[in-house]
Amino acid sequence: MLQRPPAEPGMREEDVDTPALLLDLDAFEHNLDTMAALLAPTGTKLRAHAKTHKSPVVALQQMRRGAVGNCTQKVGEAEALAWGGVPDILVSNEVIAPRKLARLAALSRIAKVAVCADDEAGIAAIEAAAEAAGLRMTVLVEIDVGSGRCGVEPGPPAVALAERIAASPHLIFGGLQAYHGSAQHKRRPEERVAAIAAATDGTRRTVEQCRQRGLDCAIVGGAGTGTFALEAASGVWTEIQAGSYAFMDADYARNDDPPPFRQALFVLAQVMSAPRAGVAVVDAGHKALPTDSGMPLVHGFPGVAYARAADEHGTLLGEGVPRLAEKVRLVPGHCDPTVDRYDWYVGVRKGRVECLWPISARGAMA
Ligand code: PLP
Ligand code: MN
Repeated sequence: MLQRPPAEPGMREEDVDTPALLLDLDAFEHNLDTMAALLAPTGTKLRAHAKTHKSPVVALQQMRRGAVGNCTQKVGEAEALAWGGVPDILVSNEVIAPRKLARLAALSRIAKVAVCADDEAGIAAIEAAAEAAGLRMTVLVEIDVGSGRCGVEPGPPAVALAERIAASPHLIFGGLQAYHGSAQHKRRPEERVAAIAAATDGTRRTVEQCRQRGLDCAIVGGAGTGTFALEAASGVWTEIQAGSYAFMDADYARNDDPPPFRQALFVLAQVMSAPRAGVAVVDAGHKALPTDSGMPLVHGFPGVAYARAADEHGTLLGEGVPRLAEKVRLVPGHCDPTVDRYDWYVGVRKGRVECLWPISARGAMA
């Protein structure tokens, strides 16, 4: 069931029903403008990741500032974006199920769609779906540049898959997917520099070997909020896939040199019990906020910690906890899974609700 919108335009922030997902519009627009300004001199394009925002409304704002399109991890996310008018989508992930590939093939009738593969069987499955739909689909080869997640080895194994794609009558070889996930949250900048230097070597080598076989890597995609400046400066990547930069979270803020973005995403919660001195219990627990990357922070209350989460309760402890009935902004530990808990962004500016945006890819797991 769709959640009821927790606010109406014009309402004061303190009247918004809780828990609610707040987007501070000044900070959000600052983040979008900052990324566009940082990438402009590098010539590297932004293809922001929609697994963070799950909303064509946000995707189109990124595109208005120069992004070439969006990435998704799931076919359902790609559908929500295309149905919402996003014209260019890369599923930066492997899709292997015929049913899902049939949906993706159908979607490529209304948007430019590409998908990744890291195995011959995956390529064969995409070829079968494209043939059944009577069209051609663009496929990127994913290489493992250090994360140890998906992806074939850089170099000859990747080139062999690229040749296989190019030789498939219903496929177009689109380039390389080269994302180093585990580098993003390395705390020390030197660790990130070393990780992306190694990723750059493998990616550059693979691009060159593809070229020697007459295969052009039109897209070389990768990078996230923690490392994008390195990939953008490398001269190897053509597209940056950062997602969290638009919203930020407490975990990215813990990097020794946090990325140059403001905290724009909050969960608004209300103190509904203040049973003892130094204790305030808010109405946002595990179901309102994931804790996979640590507890949320209590914005504007430096001496107060969000100490414990239960299903529907969050226990705040410390000096000067908020009063009974007071509403507080919580900074999520990890923005992506937080967004997935909500159907609406409540956009606020200068203390007032300005807009409500549907999170239409919310829950898209298939
Ligand atoms: N690209 C891919 C393939 C990803 O899996 C991710 C996140 O995990 C990103 C880009 C974006 O990362 P971030 O949200 O940290 O910017
Ligand atoms: Mn994330």
